[in-house]
Amino acid sequence: MSERRFPTQSRRVLISGASIAGPALAFWLGRYGFNVTVVERAATIRTGGYPIDVRGTALDVVERMGLLPQIRAAHINTRLMTFVDGDGHEIGAVPVYDAVGSNERDIELPRGTLATLLYDASRKEGVQYRFNDSIETLDDDGTGVNIRFTSGIRERYDIVVAADGLHSRTRRLVFGVEDQFRCDLGSDFAIFSLQNDRGLSHGGIFHAEPGRVAGVFAVQNSQRMFGFLTFMTDQGAPRDVSAQRNLIHSAYAGMRWEVPRLLAAMETADDLYFDSVSQIRMPHWSKGSVVVLGDAAFAPSFRSGQGTSLALVGAYVLAGELAFHKNTSAGLEAYERKVRPFAEANQALATDGRGAFFLPCTQADIDMRNHLLAEIARNGPEILFNDSRSAAHSAISLPDYQVGARED
Ligand SMILES: Cc1cc2nc3c(=O)[nH]c(=O)nc-3n(C[C@H](O)[C@H](O)[C@H](O)COP(=O)(O)OP(=O)(O)OC[C@H]3O[C@@H](n4cnc5c(N)ncnc54)[C@H](O)[C@@H]3O)c2cc1C
Repeated sequence: MSERRFPTQSRRVLISGASIAGPALAFWLGRYGFNVTVVERAATIRTGGYPIDVRGTALDVVERMGLLPQIRAAHINTRLMTFVDGDGHEIGAVPVYDAVGSNERDIELPRGTLATLLYDASRKEGVQYRFNDSIETLDDDGTGVNIRFTSGIRERYDIVVAADGLHSRTRRLVFGVEDQFRCDLGSDFAIFSLQNDRGLSHGGIFHAEPGRVAGVFAVQNSQRMFGFLTFMTDQGAPRDVSAQRNLIHSAYAGMRWEVPRLLAAMETADDLYFDSVSQIRMPHWSKGSVVVLGDAAFAPSFRSGQGTSLALVGAYVLAGELAFHKNTSAGLEAYERKVRPFAEANQALATDGRGAFFLPCTQADIDMRNHLLAEIARNGPEILFNDSRSAAHSAISLPDYQVGARED
C-alpha cells in the first residue's frame, strides 16, 4: 500500500473517544493529511483491561499500520477453558482457539496495550488529543459542525465522529436516545480483578448453573486474575454501582464453587465493569457531517469477540473513503455500504446458538455442553465448531486507497 500522503486535505475532523476505534481512525486520517483532534472524557488513555482479539481482516489493518510486530509481541496466548462442577471437579476443557473459532494467526492482547499502541502511532501522524473533556453541545449547520466542549472551548469542525462506545453520548446528541438502537441479548456481565492466589495462567475456569456462569481467568502468570460473572436477566443494566452490586448478589445467591469468594472480591473491587450484553443496530451510520464508528455504531457484544476487529476495520475504511471522496457525504455513504455487511456478519456470531455452550440457559443446555466436552476429550476440539466463525472474521476485502485516485 502507498505510504504517500493525500496532498490536498484541509478538512478538520473531531473524533470523540480515545480507545480503539478513535485512535485507529485518527491514525489513518492523520496519514491522509486531515487535521485531526481526538477528545476523550478520561484523563488519559485507559491502560488496564481485559483481553481483546484482533482477528481476520483486522490483522491486515494493523499490518498496514506497521503495528503487527508490536501487537504480536503482546499476544497473550490464552490456552485452555476448563469447566468445573459445584465442587470444583473438572467436567472438561476446551482449547480457547477452537472454542471461539480463531486460528493461529489471530492475536489476543490486553485492551490497554492495543489502545496505547494506536495512540502512540496516531500522535506520530500529527493527531492532537484533548483529555478530560467531551462534547457538550453539537450543531451541524449543513456546512460544518459547531462544538461546545464541556471545558467551555468552542470550535468548528468539518466532520465529527462518534467513537465513544456502546453508550455514546455523541450518538445520542445527533441520532437520539440509545434505547432505539441498543439490542439487549438477555444477559448482563461483570468483570473485575482479584488476587491470583491459585497460580492460574493463560486460561480460565468456569462453573455454570442454568442462567448463570461464574469464572476466573488469568492472562499471564501474574499476581492478579479476572473474575467474570454473566447471568440471564431481562432487566437491563443499572448504571448505579451499588444497584449493580445488589443485582449481582441476588443473581448469584446460593451458587456453589468459588462464587461466595468471587462475590466478596466483586464487592470491594475498584475496577468493576458491569454492563448488559448488548449490540448497537442503527438504520443509518451518519447524519449530515456526523458519523458513528466502532461500538457506538455496530457494537457486536463481547459474545462475538469481534468488537475490536470491527472497530479497526471500520476505522480503516472510514478514513480511506473520506480521503478518497472530496464530498464528505459520498465518503460516509461508501463507508457504510462497505462495512455494514461485515459488521452484520460478525454481530450474527453473538446470537448463533453457541452462546448456550458458555451461558447455558437450562439444565438441558448444561447436559448438552457436558456431552460435547466428553466428545472433545475423545475426538478432539475440532468437532465443536466449524470454520464459519473465521469466515465472518474475514468477510470483507480491504480497499487500497491510492493517492490521487479520487472518485468525485
Ligand atoms: C468485558 C469485555 C470483554 C470484551 N472482550 C472482547 C473480546 O474478547 N474481543 C473483542 O474483540 N472485543 C471485546 N470486547 C469489546 C471491545 O472492547 C470493544 O468492542 C472495542 O474496544 C471497541 O472499541 P471502541 O473504541 O469502539 O469503544 P470503547 O472501547 O468503548 O471506547 C470508547 C471510548 O470513548 C470514551 N468516551 C465515552 N464517552 C465519552 C464522551 N462523552 N466524551 C469523550 N469520550 C468518551 C471512553 O472513555 C472510551 O475511551 C470486550 C468488551 C468488554 C467490555
